[in-house]
Amino acid sequence: MPTRRCEQGGMLVMRIEYEPKLLEQVVLASLRDAEEKGDRRFAEDLHAALEPIYRRPASDERERRFRLEYLRQFQRLGYERPVLAALHECATLDRRAERFILAAAASGRDEEGDCLPGPGGMAIRVRALPERFLRPNALLSFLRAELVRVEDLLDPAFEFVPSLRLADRPAEENLLRDRYRLFWTLSVEGRVAHAGRGEPAAARRLRLELDRLYASLPEAGRETLFRRFWNGARPTHTELVRLARDVAAVCAVAGVDPSEGARPILGSPCPLCRFPAHDWAHAPLPAAVVAAIHVDFPGWRAEQGACGRCAEMYEAQATGVAAH
Ligand SMILES: [Zn+2]
Repeated sequence: MPTRRCEQGGMLVMRIEYEPKLLEQVVLASLRDAEEKGDRRFAEDLHAALEPIYRRPASDERERRFRLEYLRQFQRLGYERPVLAALHECATLDRRAERFILAAAASGRDEEGDCLPGPGGMAIRVRALPERFLRPNALLSFLRAELVRVEDLLDPAFEFVPSLRLADRPAEENLLRDRYRLFWTLSVEGRVAHAGRGEPAAARRLRLELDRLYASLPEAGRETLFRRFWNGARPTHTELVRLARDVAAVCAVAGVDPSEGARPILGSPCPLCRFPAHDWAHAPLPAAVVAAIHVDFPGWRAEQGACGRCAEMYEAQATGVAAH
């Protein structure tokens, strides 16, 4: 893994490591972006730099040269600047960790900061989607938020317990993880925003995510939930777990009586997967999604609705079909 000490006045104690896969994916994303803008120059330069390495026989040395070339391109494109800027703002973390690892996330759900204990000391790892690097300001805000998340993890008052299963049924695990993550991220990004360092679009993006995961709550209840976590005291891991698992606990925070309004819809089974649905998809569903559902469920009517998970799956199917 290419590593380097920060040279900005030697202020950073921890060593920065970039996962080779991330470097390659970021450079290739940047290449696609340049080509879409009609810029062929970058493709020619990159080809000229990589071609002599490709011609070498396969060996560890060849792999090392590839890694170094992608690191060089990554730095030349200026992608290291937001990384260094975010780390320089986090002096407390810098003193506590031995290494900072930036790695590639496989999906949006996989994007996260965490801590890895190791023999040489603790490492902080942030996994990010390569496309993030194309928008340096948004990347900086993302890194700031993930480093705040890591500070939470390291704070005993947060009461974090690693690798805990949230759901009793495996099919519900992702939903409960999304909910846990939503409330935590609202608090994390709220703190970054209140410090004047947030991404302008963050509040809107998280409000939409809250609407999606708690579609069956009344609007006023969703707004109360949003304000509680965006502006209020940081929740503990224990509270986040309770909220993710227990809709009644969420209703209590939202000021919604579970017996009114929310009860008839919350937890009633999705007509497709038959699981209790707490996250109904927004109506009306796009026509392509309705058509994709009808392939498997000819008798289903759009008014019956579908849970968010099923709607997502059929939307992916519909998009996949359209792409072929
Ligand atoms: Zn379903």
